[in-house]
Amino acid sequence: MVKRFETKLIHSIEKAKLPIRSKVTPIYQTSAFTFDNLEDLEGYYQGEGNYLYSRTGNPNTDELGQMVAAIEGAPAGIATSSGLSAILAGILSVAKSGDHIVAAEDVYGGSFHLLHEELRNLGVETTFVSFANLEQVERAIQPNTKLLYTESITNPLLRVENLPAVVELAKRNNLVTVVDNTFATPYHCNPYELGVEVVVHSATKYIGGHSDVTAGVVVGREDLVSKARAKVVNLGANVSPFEAWLTTRGLKTLAVRMQVQSSNARKLAEALRNNPNIARVYYPFEAETTGYGAMVSIELAKTVDVNQFFKSIGWVKLVPTLAGVETSVSHPLKTSHRALPPEAQESLGITNELVRISVGIEHFEDIISVFEQAIENSLR
Ligand SMILES: *Cc1c(COP(=O)(O)O)cnc(C)c1O
Repeated sequence: MVKRFETKLIHSIEKAKLPIRSKVTPIYQTSAFTFDNLEDLEGYYQGEGNYLYSRTGNPNTDELGQMVAAIEGAPAGIATSSGLSAILAGILSVAKSGDHIVAAEDVYGGSFHLLHEELRNLGVETTFVSFANLEQVERAIQPNTKLLYTESITNPLLRVENLPAVVELAKRNNLVTVVDNTFATPYHCNPYELGVEVVVHSATKYIGGHSDVTAGVVVGREDLVSKARAKVVNLGANVSPFEAWLTTRGLKTLAVRMQVQSSNARKLAEALRNNPNIARVYYPFEAETTGYGAMVSIELAKTVDVNQFFKSIGWVKLVPTLAGVETSVSHPLKTSHRALPPEAQESLGITNELVRISVGIEHFEDIISVFEQAIENSLR
C-alpha cells in the first residue's frame, strides 16, 4: 500500500521482533551485544543480522538512518554524531586524497571550514564558486573533480538551489552530487528523488526539532551509503543510542511541525515585507514546488539600532542555532559566518543588519507582533 509522507514518518520502520512487545523501540543503551556461543558470533560475521558493538551498529542508530532514508525515498541511510560528521562521511564516500570538489560559495560556515581547511589538509581540494551561475560551476571542474557540493536551501540568505540543473551538470561530467538538505528538510525537498546521490542532514535542526540533540544523517545510493557507513565506523563518528532515540522521537512529528513552522514563516515574511524599517526580507517565496521553509532572514533598515533590536525581542531567544519548536534569532555576521573573510561577508550580503529568524510553532500573530514591537522599540 502506498504511504504518504506523514504516514511514512510514523510507519516505515519494522521493529525488532522481541518477546517484550513495547509500542516504540526501547533505548538500547549498551556499548556491545552478547552471543550465546561461537557459532552465533560467527553468524554475525556471516551477515546474519544482529549486533556486535554499538560503534559498528545499534538498533537505535540504525532506526534513525533507516527512517530518514525511507522519508527521503532513498534506499539506505546511516546516522552520525553531528551534521558535520554526516557531511564528512558523505564526502569521503566519494572523494579521497588527490581528488577535487566544486562547492557552492555560500555553504554553511562549518562546512566551508571543513572543506577549506580540514579536507584540504588531508589532500582533498575544493574550489568555491557561485552555484547561482552554473557556467561558473562547469568552468571550475577539473580532471580530478569527483563531486559537486551544495545545499538545497542556503544559510542565511535562503537561496533555493536549482537541483535538477545541478544534477544534470554533474551527470554530464560524471560527478556525484552531494547536497545538504538541512534547511529544506525531507518535508519540503527530497534531493535523492531529483537525482542527488548523497544527501546529508544536520539532524540537530529540524529532524530532531527540539534543540536537545546533536546528530546527523547520510542517505542515498546504497553503495555510497555503505562507504559512508565504513567512514562513520572507522573514524568513530557514530551517534549515541540515546541521542538517536531522541532524534527519531522528534522526527515523527516533522510533518506537523513543518506545516505550522513554514506557514508561520511565510506569514511573518509577508508581514515584514511591508515594514518600512526593514530594508530587505529574504524568504523563498518562489519555491512553490518544494515549499517555503521555516527560516526568514531580514536586513534591518538604517532607521533601526541593531543592538537595541536584539535587546527588544521579548520571549524570542538569541541563539546560534535554528529549527526548534520555539522562535529564535541569530546574528550570522557574529556567529555562523564570523570566520568568513570580510570581502566574502560583504559580497554575500552578510551585514551587521542581517537577522536570521528560525520560526517556531507559537501563534503566528504573536510571532509577528513580537518582531513588529522589537522594531518599533529600537528605532533611532
Ligand atoms: C547546523 C548545520 C550544519 C552542521 O550541523 P551540526 O549538527 O552542528 O554538526 C550543517 N549544515 C547546515 C545547513 C546547518 O544548518
